Amino acid sequence: MSRLMTVTPELEAYVAKYGAREVPAQVRSRKETAELPMAMMQIGADQGAFMGLLAKLVGAKRCLEIGVFTGYSALSVALALPADGKIVALDISKEFTDRARPIWKEAGVDGKIDLRIGPALEALDKMIAAKEGPFDFAFIDADKPNYDAYYERVLTLLRPGGLIAIDNVLWSGAVADPNIHDAHTDALRALNAKIHGDSRVDMALATVGDGVMLAVKR
Ligand code: SAH
Ligand code: CA
Repeated sequence: MSRLMTVTPELEAYVAKYGAREVPAQVRSRKETAELPMAMMQIGADQGAFMGLLAKLVGAKRCLEIGVFTGYSALSVALALPADGKIVALDISKEFTDRARPIWKEAGVDGKIDLRIGPALEALDKMIAAKEGPFDFAFIDADKPNYDAYYERVLTLLRPGGLIAIDNVLWSGAVADPNIHDAHTDALRALNAKIHGDSRVDMALATVGDGVMLAVKR
């Protein structure tokens, strides 16, 4: 018997009810994003609560997000930060992230989020060159083929004891199907194996959402 459950619509509704305490801006964000064709890219409310708790647990003040979309994940982490907490949020799309600002404002966390538009790899290299950080918490959720490059850069920018959460590492189960080979699946599979054997971090693969790899820098 598997300990991974089959998610029925009833179970999904139950998790939606008890899995997170959302503020009105989070509810609004999910409602507005549901209208978009790419709505599936948004994390679930339970994952938002999970990440907020993780940020709190590591005492995060300086956070980094790679892949913002319409702002739900950054909002969930920002809400869990102390008043002087900050998130550097990287995304290539102005179109998506334009939808985030008004929602961050409504939630009163706009001042905590430093949104930078452009390719994340260049932004991270600039941050390393400028000796930004060190960061306490990072969420990697942009283009999957670049995940390994993001992971390496984030490790450089993180303090020892800092936590990296990497999203979609199960890729709807594709990573476990040896017949599936494409740039996304292969990149995720290789990174999961690499982190599993990476002595620079402590790790755990959480089967939350589409799979979240957690790595704490030693
Ligand atoms: N974390 C978000 C979802 C992110 S979706 C949430 O939970 O709501 C992935 C995002 O990565 C998209 O907004 C996309 O614009 C961004 N992205 C894709 N390629 C990128 C790149 N090279 N650099 C920066 N951002 C990129
Ligand atoms: Ca994601």
